[in-house]
Amino acid sequence: MFVLLTNDDGIEAPGLLALAREFCARHELAIVAPDRERSASAHAITVDRPLRAKKIEHPLGPAWAVNGTPGDCVKLALTTLLSRQPDVIVSGINRGPNLGTDIFYSGTVAAALEGVLFGLPAIAVSLASYAATADYGLAARVARAVAERLAGKPALSQALLNINVPNLPDKEIRGISITRLGTRRYKNVFEARKDPRGQPYYWLAGELIKEEGSDRDTDIAAVAEGKISITPLHIDLTDYRRLPELKGWLDSLFDI
Ligand code: MN
Repeated sequence: MFVLLTNDDGIEAPGLLALAREFCARHELAIVAPDRERSASAHAITVDRPLRAKKIEHPLGPAWAVNGTPGDCVKLALTTLLSRQPDVIVSGINRGPNLGTDIFYSGTVAAALEGVLFGLPAIAVSLASYAATADYGLAARVARAVAERLAGKPALSQALLNINVPNLPDKEIRGISITRLGTRRYKNVFEARKDPRGQPYYWLAGELIKEEGSDRDTDIAAVAEGKISITPLHIDLTDYRRLPELKGWLDSLFDI
């Protein structure tokens, strides 16, 4: 299996290194990742300046550090840097969870999604910890097990799986759940301060509103219960429930 590894925490992030260590023993890998942290860059791409891909001396496989977004990295890897298409793309392991509606901001998920847009299966994997000392070992093993299931299966050629691993010792993990996306809401999103010249600035520092316990089948609930969450995502954002109603508007919406 040939695996493309990427992330949004940057080429030097420990989560990416953990993935490389996990995959290198049994699989061929290539690493293409941002040259610095690009968390919360979502699916941005760079069009207003040139991209540079610096070849890195990496002990675990060919690696490039790109001065762009996670989306740029995957696009550049698949079109230009790699000599052949990977069997699967693995993005992560992100420092911090990517749960529920937060995935719309996630560079980790966007990098995986970019692979899916190229017709490849992809995994985004995140550890629910921001600690510098976090242990990415279990998340890496889960990512490899899932990647091996995805690769080489035509029916799963564009599968996009979002995996979140609780920050718990292996023995305390309470299993794996297949989940749907929950909803994450924040309050006090911007903190207003004054700069040394007296001008206001605003710093995004939202406080998570605790989810109620009713949505037991969500990714948020699973991780809160100490379970590894695997959510299948779909790139088609069409709201099919609204199609009939909107079609009903057509007769009266505009007089054309
Ligand atoms: Mn990140």
